[in-house]
Amino acid sequence: MKLLVLLTLSVLVTAKVSYRNYKLYKIIPKDEQALQFLKNLEDSSTELLRYQFWNEVTEVGNEVSLMVAPDTQNLIEAALNESNVAQSVIMNDVQEVIDQENPKWRSGEANPVDWTVYNTLEEINNWLEQMVQEFPNQLEILRPGKTGQGRDIVGVKLDFSPNVRKKTIFVESNIHAREWITSATTTYILDQFFRITDVEQRNIIEAYTWYFFPVMNPDGFVYSHETNRMWRKTRTRYNIFCYGADPNRNWGYQWMNGGASQNPCSDIYAGPEPFSEPSVRVMKEFIETIAEDMVAYLDFHSFSQMLLLPFGHTIDHLNNYDEMKEIGRIAMDELEEVYGTDYVVGNVAETIYIAAGSSMDWVKGEFNTSIAVTYELRDKGSYGFLLPADQILPTAEETLVSVFSILREYRIRHPEDGDESTTSNVNLI
Ligand SMILES: [Zn+2]
Repeated sequence: MKLLVLLTLSVLVTAKVSYRNYKLYKIIPKDEQALQFLKNLEDSSTELLRYQFWNEVTEVGNEVSLMVAPDTQNLIEAALNESNVAQSVIMNDVQEVIDQENPKWRSGEANPVDWTVYNTLEEINNWLEQMVQEFPNQLEILRPGKTGQGRDIVGVKLDFSPNVRKKTIFVESNIHAREWITSATTTYILDQFFRITDVEQRNIIEAYTWYFFPVMNPDGFVYSHETNRMWRKTRTRYNIFCYGADPNRNWGYQWMNGGASQNPCSDIYAGPEPFSEPSVRVMKEFIETIAEDMVAYLDFHSFSQMLLLPFGHTIDHLNNYDEMKEIGRIAMDELEEVYGTDYVVGNVAETIYIAAGSSMDWVKGEFNTSIAVTYELRDKGSYGFLLPADQILPTAEETLVSVFSILREYRIRHPEDGDESTTSNVNLI
């Protein structure tokens, strides 16, 4: 009997999770009763994965994506109908969308980082190493520490004139494991910094020291590639069934002050205490070493097409909110000009939901960094986390345009915030 339990558990641990015939529903709560029904459903979601919300239940009128296992669909549909909650099916078979998302998903071969496929952690880290070899005078590899499972957290420092002290910009992505479009976008941005020849853009690139950490949650990211495509959290074991804390609810600023859970099985489990997750602790300590000169903190998530500003715990407009909202709006209008992708701009609590304990809030709260923004990249829910790989390039291109807009607009308003750079003579790609 014991052996059987062990065998079953080991199958649970190693087999790739299938989402065959899982449906994705689009639900718009039309009144308070419907909203309450969804909130109750959200609160009782469990490790057994019979259903999973892809975005949080927020307000009446705000669309929610809910994925439901085949054997639970009748139950959920009946309950929704009983509570007068209208629903429509946007995916009939989530696994089919997973299988089509990445053209080389099953090839088993190493893929180049060329923004036509979603790359693995190993591919991304190897690419970072290659870039450093190619540009040893501008790039430096960073390994500030290890994850809970002993993986290196790998990033790069980029500086086109390393002998001149500059303001710094920190770029992070994939703190949420399943949001693959985010590391695809930030690696593209890094690559473009060695290709762009436009003078205005080069001035912006070369005015700063940049830190890129494409995969902030390596353990979760590997798990999302190898075992469970829909994984969001870290991989710390918290009980027999439930693993991981939400690394973007684990930072020690207003920790657990709304929009986070103390249930280890929840997708928004904040962890037993602030900075409980080794990967979060490592990055906290690293950011502390560069925070003094930091002028911008750019955090990339998906999905929803939003540019979010601090804070997540309150709807109050704090610090330079009004100015950043204005700059954000200009930048998102310029983003929209590229491919017509429209973004909402606003603070986290007001725009989506109360969500305390994020890395952005910690940076803003701790260091009052002027520019602290979180992107929620494409799309608005048609594919959600499973954005097809042929959308990587357009997403990355439009996003890069907006990053330049944000910095340009900020520099116009704050010329005092430094441009000590001198033109470099690096040979671009
Ligand atoms: Zn996220």
